[in-house]
Amino acid sequence: MQGSTTTRITEAEKYVYTRSAAQRITNREIEKLEIWRYCCLVKPRNQRPTFISKKSFKEDFAQSRKKRASEIGVTHQKINTKLFTVNSSRDIFHNYSVIAKEDHLYCDCPDQDRQRELNITPAMCKHGYAVLMTLGCNSLKEYIQKNIYKQI
Ligand SMILES: [Zn+2]
Repeated sequence: MQGSTTTRITEAEKYVYTRSAAQRITNREIEKLEIWRYCCLVKPRNQRPTFISKKSFKEDFAQSRKKRASEIGVTHQKINTKLFTVNSSRDIFHNYSVIAKEDHLYCDCPDQDRQRELNITPAMCKHGYAVLMTLGCNSLKEYIQKNIYKQI
């Protein structure tokens, strides 16, 4: 057997190339999504199928989390300076703990748990991005380059 029809789709791919991501990218309701080898085929409602690059999905993966991060409250725990308490956006009585590490921000939320499980690295969730913003960084790359870890 050969050909693209037998391409195995990993759980990690299913976590990144989603219909909700395609909806954000196209601003259309997506009826169908197929993960192909080099891109994704999507069928927006009342429209012809179209392709979305995998790069666009990867950008959306970070961008959608960054966007949601701006609405989340962050408390810096001064006693243990590497620890931040981040409010859950869904449940105001629930918090997540984000620990600043040298090259990433560890969070105990289900999103980061899932990303680690799927080997999506560096695992980044909206809580991690919320902490990055609090620290004056726009990206994890900036956080690493400016060596923010040493300054907090
Ligand atoms: Zn998180």
